[in-house]
Amino acid sequence: MDQPRVKRVVIAGGGTAGWVAAFGLVRQLGPLLDITLIESDEIGTVGVGESTIPTAHTFHKYMGIDERAFMSATNSTFKLGISFENWAHDGDRYIHSFGTLGRGTWLADFHHFWLQARAQGFAADIGDYCLEHQAAAAEKFAIGEQASVNYAYHLDATPYGQYLRTLAEARGVKRVEGKIRSVQQHAASGDIEALELESGERIEGDLFIDCTGFRGLLIEQTLKAGFEDWDHWLPTDSALPVQTESVGAPRPYTRAVAHRAGWRWQIPLQHRVGNGLVFSSAHMSEEEARALFATELEGTPLFEPRLIRFKAGRRRKSWVKNCIALGLSSGFVEPLESTSIHLIMIAVTRLLQMFPFGGVTPDVRDRFNHMADREIIGIRDFIILHYHATERDDSEFWRYVRTMDVPDTLKERMELFREHAHAYQDSHDLFRVDSWVQVLLGQRIEPQCWHQVARTMSDDQLKGALGALQSNIAKAVQAMPQHGTFLPRYLGA
Ligand SMILES: Cc1cc2nc3c(=O)[nH]c(=O)nc-3n(C[C@H](O)[C@H](O)[C@H](O)COP(=O)(O)OP(=O)(O)OC[C@H]3O[C@@H](n4cnc5c(N)ncnc54)[C@H](O)[C@@H]3O)c2cc1C
Repeated sequence: MDQPRVKRVVIAGGGTAGWVAAFGLVRQLGPLLDITLIESDEIGTVGVGESTIPTAHTFHKYMGIDERAFMSATNSTFKLGISFENWAHDGDRYIHSFGTLGRGTWLADFHHFWLQARAQGFAADIGDYCLEHQAAAAEKFAIGEQASVNYAYHLDATPYGQYLRTLAEARGVKRVEGKIRSVQQHAASGDIEALELESGERIEGDLFIDCTGFRGLLIEQTLKAGFEDWDHWLPTDSALPVQTESVGAPRPYTRAVAHRAGWRWQIPLQHRVGNGLVFSSAHMSEEEARALFATELEGTPLFEPRLIRFKAGRRRKSWVKNCIALGLSSGFVEPLESTSIHLIMIAVTRLLQMFPFGGVTPDVRDRFNHMADREIIGIRDFIILHYHATERDDSEFWRYVRTMDVPDTLKERMELFREHAHAYQDSHDLFRVDSWVQVLLGQRIEPQCWHQVARTMSDDQLKGALGALQSNIAKAVQAMPQHGTFLPRYLGA
C-alpha cells in the first residue's frame, strides 16, 4: 500500500460520542488523517450521561488526558460503584462496587469460600471483603496512597464535550457548525460520499462516523441498518433529568433508587447533583412521574425537568458500508449501569486498532460488528437481571418484569448461579465475575450449592482467612480521607 486509502474522516455530531471519537482519532492517528466534525448548536446534544465506569479512567490514561485538569474542567467526582436501593425488595440496599471480592484461588472464586463461611454462621456481609465497597459505604476515597482502588468518574456531560473539543481542535480537528441537510451516496456502491449542510457547504470523506444520537441520521435514516427493539425486556423508556443544589459532601458512588415503575439516579458532582427519574410510560404517566420525583428529590432543583424519551435496543449493524455508528446512534441499553460512555470508548478503541487504512472491506466490518454485538448483548443481560431477579410485586411494572421471559443467555446464567453458585465472564463480557456476583446476590438469588473447596480447610482456617481479609480492608479504609475532603485537596482547589 503506497498511501492509506482512508484518510478523510467525517464525524457527524458533536455530543460525547462525536468528541470522544474526534479526540481519540486525532490523538492516536492525527498525522495520518484529516478529521472534520460537524455539529449543530441549534439541535444540541442529549446533555445527560454523567456516570461512568472504570473504562473512562483507562481510556483517559491511554489518551494522555491529565486527570486533574479534566476533573476540574468537568466538575467531576470519583465513583467507586453504584448503590442499588429498593431493587430486590422495598428497603433493600446493596452496592455494586468496582472492586474485587476477597481473594479466590484458581479452583474457586472467593464467593464460594464466603458462601461456606456464611452457611457456618461466621461470614460478614460480602461487601466487607472488598476495598471499594467498604470505602464507598464509608464515603471515603484515596489514590496514590497505600491502597489502590479501582474507580471511575461522575462528570458534567456538557463541559466534558467542550473539554474534549478544545483538546481535539488544538491537535487539528476541524469543527464545522451547521445542520446536515442531506447525505450523498455513491450511485453504484451506496457508500457515503459527502454530507451537505443547510448552508450549501459539502463535506466529502472516505469514512463517516455517525454520532448524531438517537436519530441515526447516516446509519439508519440513510443506510437503513435496522434496529432491534429490546423494550419488552427493558420497558423503561422515559427520563426526567434535573440538577439540584448539593445538600452535602459528594458521595463516591451513584445512587440508583427503584420506584414503582422504574428508578431514579443521583449523581454527585463537585458543584451540584445530577438527578433523573427513569420510568416506563406504559406503567406511569408523565404527570405521575413528575409528582413522584418532586416528593423524592433532595435539594432545590435548578430548573424544571425536561422529558427525554428513549428506546432500548441496538442497531442491527453498527458499521454499514463506509459508515460507523457510535454512541446513541448505535444503540442504547438504558442508563442503569452507566455503560453508554463505556461503549463509546470501547468502540473508538476498536476503531483505532482496526482502522481500515487499506479501504473498507466486508471482513473488517463484520469483525467490528460481531464484537460490538457481543458487548452490548452482555450488557443488556446484566441490566435485565436487575429488573427480573426481584421479589417486588407491589406494582404492575414489577409484576411484569419479574415474570417476563428473559433471553436464554441470561436464563442460563441465573440458573447456573442458583444451582451451583458459578458466575463467569466470557471474553466479550464487560462485567467481571465480581460484578455478576454482587448483583446476583444483591438481587437475592440464593445459590443452593457451591464449590466445596472451603471444606478442605478447618473452620478456624476459614474464619482466620476471612477475618484477616476483612480487618485489613477495614484498616485501609479507616486510613483513607473522606471523599469530600480528598477531592479538593487532590484537585488543588
Ligand atoms: C436518560 C439518559 C441518561 C443517561 N445516563 C448516562 C450515564 O449516566 N452514563 C453514561 O455512560 N451514559 C448515559 N447516557 C447515555 C449518554 O447520554 C450518551 O451515550 C452520550 O451522551 C452520547 O450521546 P451521543 O453523542 O451519541 O448523542 P447526542 O448527545 O444526542 O449528540 C448528537 C449530536 O449530533 C448532532 N446532530 C444531530 N443531527 C444533526 C444534523 N442534522 N446536523 C448536524 N448535527 C446533528 C447534535 O447537534 C449533537 O451534537 C444516558 C442517556 C439517557 C437518555
